[in-house]
Amino acid sequence: MTILVVATGNPGKVKEMQAHLVDLDWELRLKPPELEVEETGTTFAENACLKASQVALALGEWAIADDSGLEVEALGGAPGVFSARYAESDAACIARLLKELENESNRAARFACAIAIARPDGTIALQAQGICAGEILRAPQGMGGFGYDPVFYSPEHQLTFSEMPPEIKRSISHRGKAFQQLIPQLSKLKN
Ligand code: IMP
Repeated sequence: MTILVVATGNPGKVKEMQAHLVDLDWELRLKPPELEVEETGTTFAENACLKASQVALALGEWAIADDSGLEVEALGGAPGVFSARYAESDAACIARLLKELENESNRAARFACAIAIARPDGTIALQAQGICAGEILRAPQGMGGFGYDPVFYSPEHQLTFSEMPPEIKRSISHRGKAFQQLIPQLSKLKN
């Protein structure tokens, strides 16, 4: 089995990525924590490619990375690529978002995710993208998940991402959709 290094340090994302990749003919490894890649891209796709490429090159192994975030319509797409850096902690990010949307009736938002896989020489072998539309609630609801999950509401399922069983979130989320696009290509990728 070929090693595939998961180029993220976010434990919530690692768990979700591992669940998506579990049945594949690749041996998953976590990236060493000291190997940090600065997210200098202006799009999710650029950042995913940057992270996959630099981790692959540094370790001489295949690497997979994702970049994702929340785009809020009334905020002109913010926090976008700055979702993780919007405030000091998940709770503070949510507090800032709710404050910014305090007097806003347009609650439309979407999560977006880009995934990239890089070869050991750092070149990009595969890319995929996924989007999940929803609404931002006025107060957090639910205990599960990470990041903005407690305030991201799916009208279709009438639940926040925090309240949703993880397998449902995996199937409908931006990351889930990107993986659904990626996996058939990944199984065909010649090592
Ligand atoms: P990244 O590590 O640069 O991709 O940061 C993505 C950030 O977007 C995370 O730290 C979260 O704040 C947010 N985010 C992305 N995907 C999700 C999700 O599925 N649920 C909640 N927040 C998410």
